[in-house]
Amino acid sequence: MSLGLSQKELAEKAGIHPQSVGKMERGQTTRLKQKPKSGLAHALGISVEYLDAVCQGRTVEEIAVLKFCPQCWVPGTSPDPMWTTPRSKHCFACGSKLQDRCSGCHEPIASLKFRFCPYCGKSYKGGGSE
Ligand SMILES: [Zn+2]
Ligand SMILES: [Zn+2]
Repeated sequence: MSLGLSQKELAEKAGIHPQSVGKMERGQTTRLKQKPKSGLAHALGISVEYLDAVCQGRTVEEIAVLKFCPQCWVPGTSPDPMWTTPRSKHCFACGSKLQDRCSGCHEPIASLKFRFCPYCGKSYKGGGSE
């Protein structure tokens, strides 16, 4: 199973031209540097690492995907960049173990724009036993 967005789907979601994603991938554009890229990732509710992976055509499972602190995260908002750093395992603010998948069905979290797991309907934030 893959979470992967195609470049085209990503472009459609982000409301940018599919060619821009391709250009980003090939490093041909100077306008889509780090800052707009993080803005784009923010708009999509995904991490910059995830966005990079999609742009480069890598499989997303290779990298750390989305993580959030079950205590501090406010559903519907973007995760703090500190949480999505691949090496982060615990919340920097409260020390809670970060969650990267649904506590109900254990599917990886596709987007933190969602409050509920699209696969099983469980609230991402609620009901964790940890
Ligand atoms: Zn926390
Ligand atoms: Zn689920």
